[in-house]
Amino acid sequence: MTHCAHTNILILGAGPAGLAAAGAAATSGRSVTLVDDNSCPGGQIWRMRPGGQSQASPLASALARSPHVQIHQGTRCVWVAGSHQVMLDAEQGGWLQTFDQLIICSGARELLLPFPGWTLPGVTGVGGLQALIKSGVSVKGQRIVIAGSGPLLLASARTAQQAGATIVRVAEQAAAASLARAAIGLWRWPNKLQQAVTLFTPVHRPNCQVLEATGTQKVEGVRLRQGKREHHLACDRVACGFGLVPNTEVAQALGLTPQAHQGIAVNDLQQTQLTHVFAAGECTGIGGAEKAWVEGEIAGLAASGQWELAQKKRAERARWHAFARHMQRNWPADHSATAAAMKPDTLVCRCEDIPAAELADCTGWIEAKLHTRCGMGPCQGKVCGTAAATLWGWQPPPVGQLMHPCRIGSLANIPCRHGPASSTAGS
Ligand SMILES: Cc1cc2nc3c(=O)[nH]c(=O)nc-3n(C[C@H](O)[C@H](O)[C@H](O)COP(=O)(O)OP(=O)(O)OC[C@H]3O[C@@H](n4cnc5c(N)ncnc54)[C@H](O)[C@@H]3O)c2cc1C
Repeated sequence: MTHCAHTNILILGAGPAGLAAAGAAATSGRSVTLVDDNSCPGGQIWRMRPGGQSQASPLASALARSPHVQIHQGTRCVWVAGSHQVMLDAEQGGWLQTFDQLIICSGARELLLPFPGWTLPGVTGVGGLQALIKSGVSVKGQRIVIAGSGPLLLASARTAQQAGATIVRVAEQAAAASLARAAIGLWRWPNKLQQAVTLFTPVHRPNCQVLEATGTQKVEGVRLRQGKREHHLACDRVACGFGLVPNTEVAQALGLTPQAHQGIAVNDLQQTQLTHVFAAGECTGIGGAEKAWVEGEIAGLAASGQWELAQKKRAERARWHAFARHMQRNWPADHSATAAAMKPDTLVCRCEDIPAAELADCTGWIEAKLHTRCGMGPCQGKVCGTAAATLWGWQPPPVGQLMHPCRIGSLANIPCRHGPASSTAGS
């Protein structure tokens, strides 16, 4: 039976931003509800499996002891039912959650780009590889090639190496000069400089692009180009990542209009154009865990009326915004080589098996959807829509009323006056 619950402050996402927001808001004595779709708190960077430990564990334990905080893991916001109401879906059923203030801390997802062989078993995203390892998949003794662009490549390589894998190559498509500029400028953020030194590996190659993952039943190798030279490396896994994209679906469903790839617009107190809605962390722009944390603190303080305390955090926020700008400027994303490597039979929409050739005559997302089943599978265009926006500049797909697939029992229990008029993602 769907029920209704009310909280003063609802926080969506329990990564660094959401945990910081909950801790800060709880000090006000107002009721706080923290919701996250993973089974454990921590988000992407502090991901852990049930019974495990991460940097999030002590924070989550402290929150769980607070009389003002309720935590719902394994619970997803699937539908915005009104300006102060969302529908949450969990294994035990769905419910309508009303709130006075909302803090969106929904993080980011990987930008995955299609290239020949990217759908072979054994090819994953770089963050996907980390998530697999952190949830218990063994990579011990496996040869892994990491390719694409961005700092996450090195973090992923380190996670795999620590889990017993051999990293054959980290193929970074940015030029050596850009990477040198990015590294040199890190003296202003000493912990980041130290992190970069720790993560560096001798198998890292700049100006190196992935052209194809090869194999029949599963990935057996990868073809790379470095400068003008092409070479083939044998491997058991390939992990590719081309950067991160802010998760802005909840904001869009509320009527806010985030710019593609730029995240939800907020003021210096993390408040959106809707005065009762705040946003913090990667969903407001990519910049790492420190930026997410301080933004979460500010959002939690501001949403709970502790404006003066929130103002005091602005200098720290500015410091991590400067770091984000430094990385964006000096680690540019150039995906032209990946776009050029695509073949007519390369699948673009992997949910519905739509190859590049079928999309060749389409000029935009709506046309692609009208003429093919592109973007109509379980991910609802979150992967192929983002790839098409990146590679071809197509306007990203609009958010459906149901933002994620959801349990049929939860949907069936929504009182009729609340039900989505037409659902596109229900299953
Ligand atoms: C796959 C991946 C791996 C990463 N690994 C690293 C790493 O190893 N090192 C590093 O420095 N940075 C890493 N990052 C970058 C990382 O996102 C940030 O540094 C940091 O985790 C951002 O914190 P956040 O709180 O903004 O978001 P996140 O940590 O992403 O937390 C957001 C949380 O919100 C949840 N969520 C989203 N939408 C909903 C919804 N509708 N309903 C309920 N819950 C929802 C998500 O599942 C997630 O748990 C990774 C990013 C990604 C995408």
